[in-house]
Amino acid sequence: MKWKRKRIRAIRAGVEDTFGHRISYLRISVTDRCNERCAYCMPGELREWLPREEVLSFEEIGRVVGVAAALGVRKVRVTGGEPLTRREIPRLFEMLAEIPGIEEIGVSTNGTLLGQGTNGVTMARALRARGVRSVNISLDTLDRADYAAVTGRDYLPRVREGIDAAQAAGFESIRLNAVLVRGRSEKTILPLLDFALERRLLLRFIELMPVSDRDVLSEENFFPVRAAMRRIEEEHGALMPEPGFRTNGPASYYQVAGRDQRVGFIGAMTDFHFCESCDKLRLTCDGKLRPCLGSHLEFDLRGPLRDGATDGDLREIFRGVVARKPKEHDFRGAYEPGRRMVAIGG
Ligand code: SAM
Ligand code: SF4
Repeated sequence: MKWKRKRIRAIRAGVEDTFGHRISYLRISVTDRCNERCAYCMPGELREWLPREEVLSFEEIGRVVGVAAALGVRKVRVTGGEPLTRREIPRLFEMLAEIPGIEEIGVSTNGTLLGQGTNGVTMARALRARGVRSVNISLDTLDRADYAAVTGRDYLPRVREGIDAAQAAGFESIRLNAVLVRGRSEKTILPLLDFALERRLLLRFIELMPVSDRDVLSEENFFPVRAAMRRIEEEHGALMPEPGFRTNGPASYYQVAGRDQRVGFIGAMTDFHFCESCDKLRLTCDGKLRPCLGSHLEFDLRGPLRDGATDGDLREIFRGVVARKPKEHDFRGAYEPGRRMVAIGG
């Protein structure tokens, strides 16, 4: 009885790291494959994809999420690579929705497949029907040629279709994410802001992070969120901070003056408070648990999973990873890109 009470307390509290971050969020990469080629995510010569047997099966992912949920994880977000390229992906969401303790399921996607479907059922509808509550859609530009230049694919019409399908499917939250890149963002910020208002979508601007090759993240490419804010303020007047508004992440939100519109900024490189409220771990598609996107620390779960580890063993590994979570990311320090974003899961 005593142990039971103790366990229930642990579940309510979630596992805390040494800096008081309470881990309640797991971001899961389900594939390193993608149908686009964004330069900041997988630049240069494309190497081989991971062999299929190195990627966790849905059952293995489900087991990890079960263990995480027993330790206090409540929210999961499925990402990649492009998660919707993975075969039978709706089945994974069905499994995740069944795991006791998991209260919120989201997906991050480039949007190209949300409007595609079979038998008149779009992927967006299939996901919604399986319990997905929120969808983050990446969209850096509304200009078709520019979109093709950013992503290496002429898929803007498909993304627009995907956004329509997501809105028709009735998700609780649909957010647009735009990565800021100097030389492009100057022209795209205001049209994206207008589009988000027109479609009643929450738009966030993300600072480029050095998760890919160094030559892509050069000083010339970097466009800080402050500059994006200035661009909006030149047009619309002062942005009004909304410190009370938060989503599941480190974005800071502001009201656009004279509009019924909120806009978010994710300043991983320039916001020195960025890591303070981090409650996240990441599971890579090949089964490594990472305590932080901006640190090379990662711990293997796939080996133990396939070698017959018990749930107790997996819980111990999970606790150990939480205990090694750094105070903050190392992007401003000696961090050198190792794995590409596409392999970790953004
Ligand atoms: N394929 C999906 C997508 O594009 O949304 C999910 C995976 S993607 C890696 C997740 C997010 O990471 C996207 O919003 C993408 O724009 C962002 N991202 C990729 N590389 C980045 C980088 N170097 N810096 C900042 N954000 C990046
Ligand atoms: Fe693919 Fe998303 Fe990376 Fe672009 S950002 S290459 S869509 S995984």
